[in-house]
Amino acid sequence: MNENSYLQQVGAFAGLQYYPNQGPWGRKSGAAMGPRDGYVAVIGFMRDQRSMKVAILLRFKKLEQTEAVKTALKSAGIKKGKLGAVGADFVRWEWTYSFTKPKAEDVAKLVEDLGTAIKPVTLGFDGRCEDCTSASTPSLTLMNGVPTYICAGCQEKVRQELNMAATNYDAITPNYPNGLVLGIAAAALGGLAWGLLAYAINYIFLYGAILIGYLVAAAVLKGTGKVTRFGQVIIPVLTVASVLFGDAIFFTLFVMKQEHVSFSGKLLNTIVAHLWEIEREGNGVATLIFALVGAGYAVYSARKPKFQAVFQPLGSPNA
Ligand SMILES: [Zn+2]
Repeated sequence: MNENSYLQQVGAFAGLQYYPNQGPWGRKSGAAMGPRDGYVAVIGFMRDQRSMKVAILLRFKKLEQTEAVKTALKSAGIKKGKLGAVGADFVRWEWTYSFTKPKAEDVAKLVEDLGTAIKPVTLGFDGRCEDCTSASTPSLTLMNGVPTYICAGCQEKVRQELNMAATNYDAITPNYPNGLVLGIAAAALGGLAWGLLAYAINYIFLYGAILIGYLVAAAVLKGTGKVTRFGQVIIPVLTVASVLFGDAIFFTLFVMKQEHVSFSGKLLNTIVAHLWEIEREGNGVATLIFALVGAGYAVYSARKPKFQAVFQPLGSPNA
């Protein structure tokens, strides 16, 4: 049975309407969802790298403390599936399966059992907006796929708050000199540490390069305050410089030990002059790629926040 007809069937057993293409988990098969005994229930498929799951989401009135919910679920001793997550206003239960989907009746029974388990420690909804708790809100609206009782006024408020985060980011004036100074300092320190460590353990530890890239990028971004074109240019340059500097230190120390010579400007010059040849022979290229991966990750994490709230009525066509 495909996911669509399965969810339709589960929905029928659980007393929920089935909506293809909608729901919190962004799958084409959508979810069966709706009000259930004062609560909001959602059943759908979730996939992660390793497994396929039937997920059940039960939503209730926001709580201050979630400990009681966890305890109640634990003491209910439910055998099918396991707890996925508990939040202030929801519990998600996950039933992992490998080939055969769980029986539709069993999933409906599970929804029933979960509802019974959390009932003593949670409150259902009462036809008012979850957010302002005053405006009459009899029907559910999907907020980023999650069925929610949210009034028109609160929807607008949420939209504005999320836009604000992006606006605040735009308002940051980048501090380029700061970024440059911090970036150079991080590149120098990172390179030094990299060279000395490699010498100490007599091994160039590739993953360390990711760390260097990350540090350099983090330092530049800390200095400038945000991701800018300047940072996108200077970060890879400083990262590469840092790793090469570290390698030059390592090779210089290595030659000093091997050849029993003491440090001299001439030796350093020779190493630097031949650095590219040495790098090509060894792990140089891989090191640089690893370092740039680290830098890329830091830049990606610091990018402009792209929060958005999408509100959608249940059952809108081609959602
Ligand atoms: Zn409201």
